[in-house]
Amino acid sequence: MANGDCVFCGAPVSSQGEHVLPRWLFKRWAGQGPFTFFQGDKPIAKRDGTTERAQLPRVMLPVCGSNSPSNCNGWLDRTFEVEGRPQVEAVLDNLQPIEGSAVVAFARWVTKTLVLHDHPLAVTSEIGHLGLPGSLLELPSSGLRELRRTGQFPDDISVWMAVIDPDGTPVTVPEFEPVILPDVDRPDGAGGDCGGTLLGFSLPEDKHVLFHLLFHPLCDVSNPFESAGLVTRLWPAPPAVLDIAALPVLDEEAGKVMGKWVVTGGSSISLQPGERWPDCAMVRALSAFS
Ligand SMILES: [Zn+2]
Repeated sequence: MANGDCVFCGAPVSSQGEHVLPRWLFKRWAGQGPFTFFQGDKPIAKRDGTTERAQLPRVMLPVCGSNSPSNCNGWLDRTFEVEGRPQVEAVLDNLQPIEGSAVVAFARWVTKTLVLHDHPLAVTSEIGHLGLPGSLLELPSSGLRELRRTGQFPDDISVWMAVIDPDGTPVTVPEFEPVILPDVDRPDGAGGDCGGTLLGFSLPEDKHVLFHLLFHPLCDVSNPFESAGLVTRLWPAPPAVLDIAALPVLDEEAGKVMGKWVVTGGSSISLQPGERWPDCAMVRALSAFS
């Protein structure tokens, strides 16, 4: 059960809430599996300790539905699923190239899905709370209300994607010193707690795609895997053309480290109104990793 107030509008939600991963998506996986489900880069264990499961767990979030005046679930459907579904199917099922507004719809769908999937109030029947304690991603609640009001994601969300082939040829990963992202506090209410998440989906031919979302409030970051051409930036600024069949393929080891260049929740900093943190890359894990 995901009782509580709607994460988008605050209306009471008395039912079980709404599916974070839409029902149509589960049809992709009919007869497939087994699946391993990750929180960050850690496989999530079932009650018996194993990590493989026959189907993906249902993830529920308090979102109001058609019995609420604001019907945020209907809005989610109109805003993300209707436009996103054909693109998700083209890219993930058929490995077809998409371009222009189709890439934007795909990128928005992915961003929405990762944000909701790791929301601290997201629950699954099988695992319980995915989020707290130690939730990896908690956007300021004002960010989701603004998304509902304007359709625009909060600033400082970045999303990358990579294709992983567990049996692929080893690729050379870039050398990096992990960046420690700070939680940022600013008197004008901007900022928030940084966070990140990885979510994978299966592809044909035993490959999978891994999406990496990072919330880096008031900090600019640069991803060494993007600079090395190994991952593709989806958000903000989706590419003009997305051809998943032409993307570089990472082997399993590279897939495991593609999110490790950044560490979240290292420290807390306060900024002046209007100020951004000038260079996150200067906040290094010097003592922790030397
Ligand atoms: Zn609502």
